[in-house]
Amino acid sequence: MPYLVREHLFISNISDAAEVLQNDTAEITHMLSVLSSASISFFSEWRRGLVIPTKEIRKVYVGGSEPENDSGGLVIPTKEIVEGSEPKNDSGNSPKSSLSPQKLLYSLEYAGKDLKLARMAVPLRDMEGENLLDYLDVCLDFIEESRKEGSVLVHCFAGVSRSAAIITAYLMRTEQLSQKDALESLQQSCEFVCPNDGFLEQLKMFEEMSFKIDHTSPIYKRFRLKVLGDSYNRGEKIDSSKFGADPGLPTEEVSSEVGTTESSRIVSTRAYRCKKCRRVVALQENLLDHVPGEGETSFEWHKRKSRNPFNKSDEIECSSIFIEPLRWMTTVEDGALEGKLLCAHCEGRLGYFNWSGIQCSCGSWITPAFQLHKSRVDVSTV
Ligand SMILES: [Zn+2]
Ligand SMILES: [Zn+2]
Repeated sequence: MPYLVREHLFISNISDAAEVLQNDTAEITHMLSVLSSASISFFSEWRRGLVIPTKEIRKVYVGGSEPENDSGGLVIPTKEIVEGSEPKNDSGNSPKSSLSPQKLLYSLEYAGKDLKLARMAVPLRDMEGENLLDYLDVCLDFIEESRKEGSVLVHCFAGVSRSAAIITAYLMRTEQLSQKDALESLQQSCEFVCPNDGFLEQLKMFEEMSFKIDHTSPIYKRFRLKVLGDSYNRGEKIDSSKFGADPGLPTEEVSSEVGTTESSRIVSTRAYRCKKCRRVVALQENLLDHVPGEGETSFEWHKRKSRNPFNKSDEIECSSIFIEPLRWMTTVEDGALEGKLLCAHCEGRLGYFNWSGIQCSCGSWITPAFQLHKSRVDVSTV
């Protein structure tokens, strides 16, 4: 039997979920399946001979591989689950997501005996390095909407890690609980739940971002870079579509009627320009700050310590700035571990990148590192 977590909110493993789908209990009207494959045939693969009728509503991809969505945006679900409804397109900040383009974000279908149950399936593996954060918005919104219309069951394979991580995030957001308190509260309904350490770390970030996935937050930017570094280390091809927008190019938002957020933010921000040709190469918001002299700002999974005992943070001036990878950094696309960063306009040398890290003059290790030498750039206000 699924465990009741809150009114109209249940958690279970795959076997209880399959039972709900087969028997159509009417108590549960919505289902969120978090499985390694979001394939609608997953249940029959899991147990041979199990036939659950399904009818696809839509599939939504990150990167806009759907024909009606060519803006390369992260598509957020429409608020209501209506068959054939057009997915809303959040084109503004879209490329900031760290999910690779063309990746399935979720699929939505009617399922169960009489096709009455609305099921959202999200592809997520139970691994520490798996990117949970980028799925939270769609999952939590689905739970929220489902509870208004009926009751929702959230399940993964064992009902221990993935489903628990998502429900923990949901309790955090709706009840403004810390990661620790939300998990403890969930464990009161279902004592054996235990999200993996990587998920717990991401839920902590979710807490630090005030229960929002804020793509402009340094916490999110660091996380995104870590995910990118992991994918580089796995030998995946890195292409600049996963990088931040090039601040040296005119932004689309300027001509757009709704372009108030992005452009107004740029007005008061600091810009870094190539000293030779004055092209803008980075904005204040692209910076990934580190505390001078602190050896351990490398983003957690590379533990390196500065050995220099003379490093004192207040006396050190860093000779470099470190930024998130941006689309003008075409040399990164060659796939090398390290290389030069060249100005997109004059090809002047601006700095270096290195996936396994660069040590700043202050002693801090930044990993992965996209570094601009302060001597090669000028700071100005845009
Ligand atoms: Zn430094
Ligand atoms: Zn230049």
